[in-house]
Amino acid sequence: MKRIGLFGGTFDPPHHGHVHIARAFADELQLESVIFIPAGLPYHKSIYSDTTNAQRLAMVERIMTLDDRFSVSDCDLLRKGPTYTFDTVAQFREVFPQKQLWWLVGMDSLQQLPKWYRYQALLENTNFAIAARGEIGLGAMPQELQEWLPNALAKSRSEIDGNDGGRAYILQAAYLPISSTSIRSHWSRGNHDGVPATVVEYIDQEGLYRA
Ligand code: ATP
Repeated sequence: MKRIGLFGGTFDPPHHGHVHIARAFADELQLESVIFIPAGLPYHKSIYSDTTNAQRLAMVERIMTLDDRFSVSDCDLLRKGPTYTFDTVAQFREVFPQKQLWWLVGMDSLQQLPKWYRYQALLENTNFAIAARGEIGLGAMPQELQEWLPNALAKSRSEIDGNDGGRAYILQAAYLPISSTSIRSHWSRGNHDGVPATVVEYIDQEGLYRA
């Protein structure tokens, strides 16, 4: 069974934390590709920056050379209205009817899942690949997810193949403490730690994160 990773995010900017988990998930879950999907209007997240959609897309395009399993889709940027992961997954399901789809997510985002549009259907339709994020442990997950997780983990072990959803996997690779928020706030002081060189070049060229 071929598996595809779908990696949604604001990517403002993309950083080595993103690259690291995308690669590690691809290795551990044997994903044939990881599709980065910059979010259009994330209704559950405010963007505190002036970066445009085109600039976020351009930055993600610049990290595609870092791994030949990486690709990018602008589907969420083109879709009108708010970005619902449910719609994004449905769109990819049509493109890849016979593949196992994995939504890659950090623990901080996963915690918000019960606020997502049609999240229960999403838990059934797709598979969740979960990366730790700092101190946020599994115990901090909302009750609904605490109830879902054990069966979902068991399904990914017992029913390895299948183009259906309902599986969960927890990343084994180490956590890299990098966030876009901290990069944006340190940028004007000349601290570019955690940002791939090609992205640093683009940010400087466009004059982003100066304020
Ligand atoms: P911000 O600081 O602006 O909230 P971010 O660094 O969390 O941004 P996003 O583009 O929002 O980056 O993240 C996309 C996805 O990647 C989310 O599911 C997030 O949890 C996950 N993620 C981002 N950075 C890391 C990291 N260092 N380790 C694990 N997961 C991460």
